[in-house]
Amino acid sequence: MNVHDSEKMAGILEKEGYEITEDRGSADLIVYNTCSIREKAEQKFMSDLGRLKSAKSLRPGLRIAVAGCIAQQMGGQLLKRAPFVDYVLGPQNIHSLSTMAREAKTGEVATMDNPDATLLELPASRKEGNRAWVSIMYGCNNFCTYCIVPYTRGRETSRPGENIIKEISGLAAQGFKEVTLLGQNVNSYESDIGFVELLRKINEIDGLRRIRFVTNHPRNLSGELAEAIGTLDKVCEHIHLPLQSGSDSILKAMNRKYSFKEYMKCIELLRKYTPDIAITSDIIAGFPGESAEDHKSTINAIKSIQYDGLFAFRYSQRPGTKACEMDGHLEDELKQERLMEILDTQDAITLRKNQALEGSMVEIMLETEPGDESGKAAGRTRSNKLVNISDNSGSSSKDEFITVRVTRGNKHSLLAETVRD
Ligand code: SAM
Ligand code: SF4
Repeated sequence: MNVHDSEKMAGILEKEGYEITEDRGSADLIVYNTCSIREKAEQKFMSDLGRLKSAKSLRPGLRIAVAGCIAQQMGGQLLKRAPFVDYVLGPQNIHSLSTMAREAKTGEVATMDNPDATLLELPASRKEGNRAWVSIMYGCNNFCTYCIVPYTRGRETSRPGENIIKEISGLAAQGFKEVTLLGQNVNSYESDIGFVELLRKINEIDGLRRIRFVTNHPRNLSGELAEAIGTLDKVCEHIHLPLQSGSDSILKAMNRKYSFKEYMKCIELLRKYTPDIAITSDIIAGFPGESAEDHKSTINAIKSIQYDGLFAFRYSQRPGTKACEMDGHLEDELKQERLMEILDTQDAITLRKNQALEGSMVEIMLETEPGDESGKAAGRTRSNKLVNISDNSGSSSKDEFITVRVTRGNKHSLLAETVRD
């Protein structure tokens, strides 16, 4: 989502006559797009920003903007802490970047709530290629107790269906073959049409070959969506369905609004319509009050679900959230130990699943970066598995979609060879 927000900011600035430079030393304007989901991202940003202080004193014409969730949270505080920053703008005020840049404003803060952000059609400067991200909704209403997102990105609002279809039709006409629909909970998308109807309409767009969407909330997973994944030909056989914890008491403390049993019902439903669907998830290790038994339930959940991949994180205290005020915060070492056990458990499962694909033929969409002369080719299957091609013939292929034979299943990717007639 942040990468796509950066594409929008680049698009806005291009309209104002700017162009992207790889050389920070020659930039007239530096825009940070920040993330505050975990403390580490915040620390990294702060130390990097500090380094710009001297750049600004050497080049007084340089302008610095801070965007994203840290900007939203800190607002004017950021200007006090780093007076060399010129603009502070939150995720709901990306559009204000154009005025700020055009009028060379300084000391400006744009962090107000903007529920109409869904109606703004911001130009996005996308990298050349065949994959594009498309926002379908903004914000979140769920208030999971560990999460900062509802405070930084505001209330959930969905973009009108017509605007989304228009944007994707345009992308398909430009040659994009895959779209990933973005939102904190895409399966609660609701505007003039619902999410499944939106998928049906996108499925009809000529030229498009693959449709993906992230992220889904288990609470909103319907039979209708499970069926749509199984029946709409362009919708890829993959779903990201974050579990967060396998323990009911921790799920309750997290305010996730489902039990493990209910989550398992979602998995059954998905596999009923799409038996080989790839399922990935997010897990938080060491939520406040998590006992050894709770952690064991998470390990058992991972084993019984048999995910295709997992993003796991140590719980990170986010000031302003309910969990931050809870009792029973765990030591970092214990959180790390639990995180490692979660990752090791999943790695063994992923390796086994990837090895089971050895010898099979899979269709991949090539993802070699334009201008990449390394001769290496890689792509992703519909199930979103990364495939590296061992021979070079893939890189010279004019087709974006090729069928390859899997020769080895590794922990995080597949190795394959191109198939000759
Ligand atoms: N809306 C999505 C959902 O509910 O699944 C998730 C969006 S969030 C940006 C991505 C992931 O970050 C979450 O699924 C969660 O696992 C993780 N996360 C959020 N807050 C966290 C925190 N305070 N500490 C550790 N991980 C966190
Ligand atoms: Fe955060 Fe929960 Fe909303 Fe996801 S659903 S963005 S984890 S509050």
